[in-house]
Amino acid sequence: MSIDEAHNVERDERMTAERAYELFWADLLAASATFRCVGSQCTAPLICACIDKPAQTLRVRPYFRSRRIEDHAAECEVLLGARPSKDGPRTPAADVFELERPADHFNSPVATTPSVATSTRAPAVRAPSGGVRTQASHYYRLSSVVQKFLEHRRDQTLAEATVAIGGETSTYEAVFRNVYRQKVEDVAGVRAIWWGTAYVQRLKKENGYFIRFTRPFRMGEKEAKPTITLGEKLIEAYPVRKLLRARLDKLIADSGGYCVVFVWAKPWTPPADSSEAFVRFYVNNPDHLDVRGPEVLEELKQTSRIVRPAITS
Ligand SMILES: [Zn+2]
Repeated sequence: MSIDEAHNVERDERMTAERAYELFWADLLAASATFRCVGSQCTAPLICACIDKPAQTLRVRPYFRSRRIEDHAAECEVLLGARPSKDGPRTPAADVFELERPADHFNSPVATTPSVATSTRAPAVRAPSGGVRTQASHYYRLSSVVQKFLEHRRDQTLAEATVAIGGETSTYEAVFRNVYRQKVEDVAGVRAIWWGTAYVQRLKKENGYFIRFTRPFRMGEKEAKPTITLGEKLIEAYPVRKLLRARLDKLIADSGGYCVVFVWAKPWTPPADSSEAFVRFYVNNPDHLDVRGPEVLEELKQTSRIVRPAITS
């Protein structure tokens, strides 16, 4: 049984498995941290699975689980809530991808009331009568959104499931765009979650990374493979840099840098009358980038390439 939230004893904080994972990789939580069930009258010890795994797949993701069902109190609502509800189908709320973390994100416990973003950025959608609306998930790393994308693709719910990013709500199907054979004139300035196969390598002159997609964008008669540069300064200022470096270094060691890259960005190209032809994605926050091993291609094989309007700005 997968449990979403737990009480962490060391920080005296209720947190999601996602947050526990980030705190671990920011060196703010030990792998041996103690978690307990948040059910009333329940003190069942919980394990945060996969907390120390740098790479995530459909099978490997952080979650809480109890050692034994009997550890829970008899009336533990966490345990009971995990069973099918008698109140009808649960309607998931739109996920929210927060483009900036709160300044104190890694210091203080997260508020237990829904954040402001829930009311101002993600308009509430009424659940069908009798349905129970689940609370929206707020994510700070693109990796979490990609994880949901993979799950919705597997469940064939990409066209219905929605995610709010920067005040705009789109379906997962619309917001994910493959870089493969896109015409630059059609997509210049289109902010989306662009993805495709790529190679990552270390920068020669500083402790950063350079990424080049394997598939080009078409620019009239020319073609250009999009690139991303992650400079040392950008990485060193990033609280979860240890996870970022562990993932990238592992890919370089395991597959010669061959990987699948997802980036929340818009393609940037020089003016049409320029003699140069290139496409860059500028990343000013590593939370907006997710780099995975080539095994994710198996999970992506059936992903639709339907072109729909994405968020423009
Ligand atoms: Zn419990």
